Amino acid sequence: MNLILLGAPGAGKGTQAEVISEALNIPQISTGNILREAVKNGTEYGLKAKEAMDSGALVSDDIVIGILKDRIAADDCKKGFILDGFPRTVPQAEALDAMGVTIDKVIEISVPDETIKQRVSGRRVCSGCGATYHVEFKPSKVEGKCDKCGGETIIRKDDQPETVLERLDVYHKQTAPLKDYYSKQGKLETVIGQEEVSETSKLTLKAVGA
Ligand SMILES: [Zn+2]
Repeated sequence: MNLILLGAPGAGKGTQAEVISEALNIPQISTGNILREAVKNGTEYGLKAKEAMDSGALVSDDIVIGILKDRIAADDCKKGFILDGFPRTVPQAEALDAMGVTIDKVIEISVPDETIKQRVSGRRVCSGCGATYHVEFKPSKVEGKCDKCGGETIIRKDDQPETVLERLDVYHKQTAPLKDYYSKQGKLETVIGQEEVSETSKLTLKAVGA
């Protein structure tokens, strides 16, 4: 089964992609990773991507999709794959369709913005060892201090309230229209994100028939 995972930043899309990957034994494909790999391996599209990056340009959708097509031609994708983080826009989805990449289902992990803001604003990470905490759901024993190494726990830049608002805004403007796009193709399945991750995972697995 060829899948796309959709969801706002902070909705837990990556975690659910892992859950499906394990249950169906199909790889989770992130465009960032395969782009770096293709550049490193010097593939045809990898060289084109490097040329664009070296000149300071953005890597075009055609190049990204070319790299993606190479990746999903690999043996481990025979039973399917999960795209995590691509497409991000309707033009990218159209390009994917135009290049003959078949998508069977699109799973949207739906979590209200308010919940995301609350979840993300409570995240803390240790500046010493990188251990992660949450002031509400997984607090450190002493506030502001890491349980493991005693280092200071801080808020990452990605988790700052203004960054979160900005990322949510971009998601709603650029990526959320994909719901409509895939709904019209009869491929969209919406999973309502639950408070407990394990509950969300049950719903996700049901949505993919696992
Ligand atoms: Zn630490």
